[in-house]
Amino acid sequence: MSDRAAIVQVAVPFPLYKLFDYRLPSAAPSPCVGGRVVAPFGRRRVVGLVTAVAMQTPSEPARLRAIEQVLDTRPVIPAELMELLLWASRYYQHPIGECLAAALPSLLRRGRAAEPAHARVWQITSAGQTIATRGLQQRAPRQAKLLAMLQQSTRPISRADLAASGAWRTALARLVAQGWAEALQMPAHGLRQNHVRAAAPVLNPEQSKAVAAITKALNGFQALLLEGVTGSGKTEVYLAAIEAVLSAGRQALVLVPEIGLTPQLVARFASRLDAPLILLHSGLSDTERLDAWLAAGNDAAAVIIGTRSAVFAPLARPGLIIVDEEHDTSLKQQDGFRYSARDLAVVRARRLAIPIVLGSATASLETLYNVRRGRYRQLRLPQRAGGAAAPGFRILDVRGKPLREGLSQPLQQRLRAHLDSGRQTLLLLNRRGFAPTLLCHECGWIALCQRCDARLTYHHPSQRIRCHHCGYERPVNTHCPRCASPDLRPLGLGTQRVEAALRLAFPGIGVLRIDRDSTRAKGAFEARMEAARRGEAQILLGTQMLAKGHHLPEVTLVAVIDADQGLFGMDFRAPERLAQLLVQVAGRAGRAAHPGEVIIQTHYPEHPLLQILIHGGYERFAEDALREREAAKLPPFSAMALVRAEAQEREPPRAFLDQAKAKIPPTRGLTILGPVPAPMERRAGRYRAQLLLQAPQRDMLQALLSGWVPRLAELKQARRVRWSVDVDPLEML
Ligand code: ADP
Ligand code: ZN
Ligand code: ZN
Repeated sequence: MSDRAAIVQVAVPFPLYKLFDYRLPSAAPSPCVGGRVVAPFGRRRVVGLVTAVAMQTPSEPARLRAIEQVLDTRPVIPAELMELLLWASRYYQHPIGECLAAALPSLLRRGRAAEPAHARVWQITSAGQTIATRGLQQRAPRQAKLLAMLQQSTRPISRADLAASGAWRTALARLVAQGWAEALQMPAHGLRQNHVRAAAPVLNPEQSKAVAAITKALNGFQALLLEGVTGSGKTEVYLAAIEAVLSAGRQALVLVPEIGLTPQLVARFASRLDAPLILLHSGLSDTERLDAWLAAGNDAAAVIIGTRSAVFAPLARPGLIIVDEEHDTSLKQQDGFRYSARDLAVVRARRLAIPIVLGSATASLETLYNVRRGRYRQLRLPQRAGGAAAPGFRILDVRGKPLREGLSQPLQQRLRAHLDSGRQTLLLLNRRGFAPTLLCHECGWIALCQRCDARLTYHHPSQRIRCHHCGYERPVNTHCPRCASPDLRPLGLGTQRVEAALRLAFPGIGVLRIDRDSTRAKGAFEARMEAARRGEAQILLGTQMLAKGHHLPEVTLVAVIDADQGLFGMDFRAPERLAQLLVQVAGRAGRAAHPGEVIIQTHYPEHPLLQILIHGGYERFAEDALREREAAKLPPFSAMALVRAEAQEREPPRAFLDQAKAKIPPTRGLTILGPVPAPMERRAGRYRAQLLLQAPQRDMLQALLSGWVPRLAELKQARRVRWSVDVDPLEML
C-alpha cells in the first residue's frame, strides 16, 4: 500500500449538480485539486477538474472507472479561486462543472498544456527598412500599406492587429518572401511593459482623502464606494491606489463593464503605470487569452484589466480589486452561469483579505444600501477635478409642440446656438434603427417577427426589417402582404431617422451616429469616438453606448430626445436605470472653460422621477427609490431568484414550473409569484414562462434553493423544457 491518492473526485463540464469519482491507475502521476484530468464520461472522454483526492471511498474502487490521463500536477485553478468558484456554484445554483469551465480559458478547457502559447508575430527587417516604398505604392499598394504599418509599429505585429487592416495574408507572404518582413514567435499575452510617459496631477483634498482611505486598508478586507460624477477624478484615485499596491509588490485587478467602451481608460493606465499590464476580455484570441490568464497567475502581470469574467483570473499576489462603473448591468452575466462580477469581486476580496473599490457616479441601490448599513465605506468626490462646473438639467415640455422627427423647436434652437459658437452637441435616443414599427396605412398591418412577440424594426440604409430580439431579418416589403397597398409607413423614432432629420435641418454640419449598427466592425466604436474627440462631427447622436465611459470635453449641449421611454418600464428597476442613464449622459458634457447644458424632452414634465432628479440629483433620487423599495419589500430589502423555462410549445414551461412550485418546501415569509408567461412570451420561436421567489433574507432563500434546485432536474416535466435559475436577477425578462 502506498499513501498516494486512489480516488479522484472530478467536476465534468456538463450541467450536472454532481461530482464524479474515478479510480487513479497506479502508473499515473499524482493529480492535484484544481488540476485537470482526462476521464471517460458515458461514451465520451472529457477534460474535468479535480475537486478532491482521497485514499478511499465507500464505493468499491475497482468498480469505478479509471482516469485516463493526469494533465496537471500543479493546479491550474489555485485553491483560493477554486473555493470562490465552489462558493459561486452554490450561491448561483449553477452546476459546478460549468462554473469551473466558465473560469478557464478555452484552450485549457480543451486539454492544452498550461504553458504560455507562442504566437507568430511579424516585424520589419533592415532590408524592409531601407526599401523605397514609392515604387511599391503603385505596383502593390497592399504591400506598401502593410510595410508602412510594420515600420511605424513599436512592437511586432500580431495576427489580430493585421486582421483589423483588411486582407493581408498574400501581401504579408510577399513581404516575407522578399525578405522585407520576418516572422517571430512571441508569448501572445500582449503584456505591456510600460514606460511612464505622463505625470500624475497633484490630487485635490478629496482625492487624497480617498487614496489614503484605500491605502490604509491594504492589509485587510474593506469595501469602499468611490462616488463621483464623470470627471471628478475617480480614475486618478484608482491610479494612485494602484501605485501604492504595486510598490508593496502586489497586483491590482480592475474590472470594467466593456473594454470596447473604455479604450481611454486602458490607454491612461498604460501611460501612467510603470508595471506590466494585461487585458482580459472577450475580444482576445484563444492563445492570447491563455497567455494573459497564465501571466496573471504566475506574476508576470502586475495590473490586470478585464471585463466580468476577469473576476476569475488567477492572481499570484493580489493586493487590490477595483470595479469601475459598478452599477453597470453588463457586470452581470445574463445567460448560462449567471453571476454578478461585482458581487463576486466583493466576495473574493473578503476571502483574500484585501480592499475593494467600487466606483460610480450613479451607484446601484444595492451598493448604496450596503453603505447605509455600514458594510461599505463611502468616499465622495463632490466636485469635478480641475474646477469644471456640473451641468444643469432642464426639462423641455414637448406637449402640444410640433416635433420634427422627435426634435422640438426649442431644442433645435439650442442646438443651433451651440453649433454656431463652434461647440459639439450630443443627442441621446435609446433606440437604434430607423423606426421601431412598419405599418400599412391602408389596412393597419404591422410587420411582426414570426419567432418573437415583437415588432420588426425598419432599418433605412439597408432597406431591411429586423428583429432586435432574435436577429431575424429580411428585405422590407414593397407592398402590404395583407392588402397589397404600397403605402407602408415607418412609425416611431430610431437613431437613423433622427440622423436623417438632423442632416436636413443642419446642412453642412457633421453628424456622427454611434449605436450598435454603426459600430459593429471591430475597432469601429473606438474609431468613431476618436473622430468625435477630434471634432470631425459637431453633432453626436447615439444610444446608451454614447453615455458610457467617454468624456467629451468639447460637448456643451446634451439632449435626451425622448425620456418617456424609460418612465413607465414594467421592471421595478426601470426608474433606477433611467436615472443612471440620464445622469451618465449629462456627465459627458462640459468642462472648466464652458460648462454644459442638459435638455430632457418629455411629455411628462411633472413626473416625480424627473423632478427629484433635477432638484435633488442622483443622491435624492436614490434615497427616495430606496424608501420605495423598502416599502414594497423589493431588493435590496429582500432576495430574489427567478426560475425560467422555455420550450417550442406553450404548455411545457408552465407545466414544469407548476411541478417545480409544488416541490417548494413551506417557508415562512417566502413569496412565490407565478408561474406566469415572460413579459415577452415568445422569443426566437420558444415560449417562455417564469416563477419568481422572493424571501425577506438572503440566507433563507439560499437555504431553500440549495435543497430545491438540484431536484428540479429530476422532475418529469424537466425533460420537455430548457430551464435555468437566476439568483439576484437584474432583468425580469
Ligand atoms: P473620472 O474617472 O471620475 O471620470 P478622471 O480621473 O478621468 O475622472 O478625471 C477627469 C479629468 O480631470 C482628467 O482629464 C484628469 O486628468 C483630470 N484630473 C483628475 N484629477 C485631477 C487633479 N487633481 N488635478 C488636475 N486634473 C485632474
Ligand atoms: Zn395593408
Ligand atoms: Zn424575433
